[in-house]
Amino acid sequence: MKDFSTKLLQWHSAHGRRGLPWQNEKDPYKVWISEIMLQQTQVATVKERYLQFVQTFPSLKDLAKANSDEVMGLWAGLGYYTRARNLHACAKVIEQKYDGNFPNEASTLSTLPGIGKSTASAIAAFCFNQKISILDANVKRLLGRIYAVEDDLKKTVTHEYLWKIAQDLLPKTSSDMPAYTQALMDYGATVCTPRNPHCQGCVFKKGCLAYEQDIVDQIPKKVKKVSIKEVQSVMLCILAKDQLLLHRRPPSGIWGGLWSLPESAWTENVDLQDLTDALNDFQNLPLDILRRALPKAKFMAPRKHVFTHRVLYFQIGILKVHQPFEIDNADFKWVNKIEVQELGLPTPVKQFIQDYWSINSL
Ligand code: SF4
Repeated sequence: MKDFSTKLLQWHSAHGRRGLPWQNEKDPYKVWISEIMLQQTQVATVKERYLQFVQTFPSLKDLAKANSDEVMGLWAGLGYYTRARNLHACAKVIEQKYDGNFPNEASTLSTLPGIGKSTASAIAAFCFNQKISILDANVKRLLGRIYAVEDDLKKTVTHEYLWKIAQDLLPKTSSDMPAYTQALMDYGATVCTPRNPHCQGCVFKKGCLAYEQDIVDQIPKKVKKVSIKEVQSVMLCILAKDQLLLHRRPPSGIWGGLWSLPESAWTENVDLQDLTDALNDFQNLPLDILRRALPKAKFMAPRKHVFTHRVLYFQIGILKVHQPFEIDNADFKWVNKIEVQELGLPTPVKQFIQDYWSINSL
């Protein structure tokens, strides 16, 4: 579309949203916090919680050195707690790997925990004037309608197509990037809204293919939602000298038939910090031996694995016992470092074992 950025910037200087506490912010730390909060939370809620968050942790350094209970406590009620865990993890990475300075390129930012491509672009555009477009749900809807994209906007191929369009529409001058990026967000949120968009007063009405073809209400295409469930599990890495205990999973279901670490059931409410309780789930194992080993157990940081319809958080407890114990069940076996390489293990479990062995020898 011709003059897209000019029209958008003109609209924004007259009608853009005003008074949001993160607007005109140049500090990448604060832009980042607001972007992450806005991902799944209403603007009205974020307005208040954002201020509380940046008052408690005014800088990246403050967040990086905070304890995780404090961070999670401050996030309470905002939901999608992965965001808080990632914020904390990301702050530590920036502190350690980048000496406390945010990388100024979207391509580097998007490698950090919890920072997706669109959020990385927003930080780079707002704070470093990088000429790169955001492509959040609002922008996808706006461009999807202007270009009459009737396919599912979440499909990779459609997504890529819209990225290309978004990049082609950027303003020529990089100093316009902060205002332009804010304008894109505001336009989708206030004019080209999901329901009842304000087409009559829209500056893109002439040239908007969805409007011309009278298919505005069909874009974005409505697709049946698949709910993503978060589940948790505790796994035991039971070591006896040079032997590791593995358990073969049931033949059907996720990771069906693969050898893995003995684990508790996948539920939505396992307390990943409390291995004592979780041990009750390992009825096939000699619990008296494991309980004796428990005081010296080492808990690894929870790991995450994403499946199509669920996200698994698993915490591994390392338990060392004096010698391999007998288990009258063919679905358990002790293996050494060489033998484990020949077995099919779920990727994240295999990765953990490799990581563990690379720094510890059995
Ligand atoms: S004309 Fe309507 S559908 Fe098209 S961009 Fe404007 S508000 Fe969105």
